[in-house]
Amino acid sequence: MVISVDRYGVMGYPVSHSRSPVIHRLFALQTAQNMQYELLQVPPEKLESAVRQFQRTGGKGLNVTVPHKSEVARLADTLSDRARSAGAVNTLVFDNDAIFGDNTDGVGLMRDLQQNLGIQLEGINILILGAGGATRGIVQPLLAANPASLTIANRTLSRAKGLADHFGAYGPVTACRFEDDLSKTEFQLIINATSAGLKGEMPPYPEEAITASTQCYDLSYGLNPTPFSQWAATHGAARSVMGWGMLVEQAAESFNLWRGTRPDTAAVLKQLIITA
Ligand code: NAP
Repeated sequence: MVISVDRYGVMGYPVSHSRSPVIHRLFALQTAQNMQYELLQVPPEKLESAVRQFQRTGGKGLNVTVPHKSEVARLADTLSDRARSAGAVNTLVFDNDAIFGDNTDGVGLMRDLQQNLGIQLEGINILILGAGGATRGIVQPLLAANPASLTIANRTLSRAKGLADHFGAYGPVTACRFEDDLSKTEFQLIINATSAGLKGEMPPYPEEAITASTQCYDLSYGLNPTPFSQWAATHGAARSVMGWGMLVEQAAESFNLWRGTRPDTAAVLKQLIITA
């Protein structure tokens, strides 16, 4: 008798740093699901053929990470509201020939900030560094929490401006460069959503934006403190947190879409950090 195992995976470039396979294996064990989860390194020019081949060969779903999140939205037959408004997809669900695209980054970040870390977002000034696919997924949920302001700073100003225009209908959002003078606003929360740390690069982040009451959150995560979290601690931030919690929370939302069951994230987060 052949026992078939449902296949899932994460596509990115690079992707070797991803902890998603470990997280989904822990979720599968915890909820007794018969599935496997693979790490798939796919360069941008091969994205479409790799997704279609994974689907053709019986794949049930994919996570999609840097730098494919915007491009992969094009391949979905239908998109969730949150993926459509973000213009970025991090989860694909394959149902026979159809592809459904969703974005679980926003809900993952919000769960970590509000429930796990107890950060109050209403009425605060938020600075996001970076304007790529991850930022696209988190701006609208952050604006829905009614901050006083949300500023997007990016190396390429036109990209930050594009997002500020796109999300302007949802709340007070503006765009700038890292080098612009940000000393007039007191930021209670700074979120690093650049991929610079992945490449070991250190952009000219605006030091004047940090005060002793600023909480700093890096979407990137690592075995050791990331360059951004080190920078934040060095410049006197009240708290400097890496994105392990968001990673586990967004994964739980994807897992629920695929398997119809929600794992216990606290247990997996603890296990992941202990074994990291
Ligand atoms: P992306 O779409 O490729 O965007 C990359 C962003 O980083 C762009 O804004 C880019 O600026 C900026 N950037 C890259 N290198 C830079 C450098 N040397 N100096 C300054 N800016 C630089 O990537 P993404 O999908 O948004 O992902 C961003 C990061 O978030 C990644 O590290 C990813 O692993 C992490 N992430 C974590 C989670 C989690 O669950 N914890 C979830 C999603 C993403 P330009 O526009 O100027 O090129």
